[in-house]
Amino acid sequence: MKIIMLGAPGAGKGTQAKKIAAKYGIPHISTGDIFRANLKQGTELGKKAKVYMDQGLLVPDELTCDLVVDRISQPDAVNGYVLDGFPRTIPQAECLTNALKERNESMDIAIDVTVPDENIINRMSGRRACLGCGATYHIEFNPTKTEGVCDACGGELVLRDDDKPETVKKRLDVYHAQTQPLIDYYTKAGILYSVDGTQDIDKVFEDITKKLG
Ligand code: ADP
Ligand code: ADP
Ligand code: ZN
Repeated sequence: MKIIMLGAPGAGKGTQAKKIAAKYGIPHISTGDIFRANLKQGTELGKKAKVYMDQGLLVPDELTCDLVVDRISQPDAVNGYVLDGFPRTIPQAECLTNALKERNESMDIAIDVTVPDENIINRMSGRRACLGCGATYHIEFNPTKTEGVCDACGGELVLRDDDKPETVKKRLDVYHAQTQPLIDYYTKAGILYSVDGTQDIDKVFEDITKKLG
């Protein structure tokens, strides 16, 4: 099963992608996680990406597309994968479509997690990410057992720099201008499925799994 997660920053793409990956035994591929891992390791890619990420802007398509095409060509992706945070622009979507076409493949479904902008700022300011393993929580909606400590690895939880309200507003603008057109793109491709992302985490997941079967 080859799945794309669409939705605004903070809509819950990552949260649902992790649950889908665990249930169906396919890799969760998050471009944001890949960029953050590169940043932590101090690679050239990480340094380049940071400049854009800090401003709430998208990393250029040239730096993003090859990375994903390479990742989905790894052996663990033969039975499918869930793409989280990619594609985010029409050129990225075209790059993906073309790369798959060369192998006589296509994506199965694009899941749009819909959440109005009003809810997003609140979601993001309460999001906490683990420095150790990248797990995400929410101080109110998905809290850890011990405050500030990751349930999965015991790592320290932080508010991401780009989750501060000023940057979130910018990211929402970027989302509406550059990413929202993908809803049309995948509707035309006949694979769009919209789910109400304002429901609680388990209910959103239930709707998704009903659809995926
Ligand atoms: P969120 O899950 O909140 O939407 P991500 O972790 O997916 O955030 O992305 C964080 C940042 O990484 C983005 O604001 C952007 O700068 C960069 N990024 C992630 N994926 C892409 C992509 N497909 N194209 C361009 N930039 C990306
Ligand atoms: P995205 O990957 O789309 O940026 P995340 O999955 O990281 O979004 O979720 C953003 C924040 O909102 C996190 O703190 C997460 O725990 C929380 N969250 C995710 N889904 C829901 C939901 N259905 N209801 C309430 N909070 C949620
Ligand atoms: Zn952790």
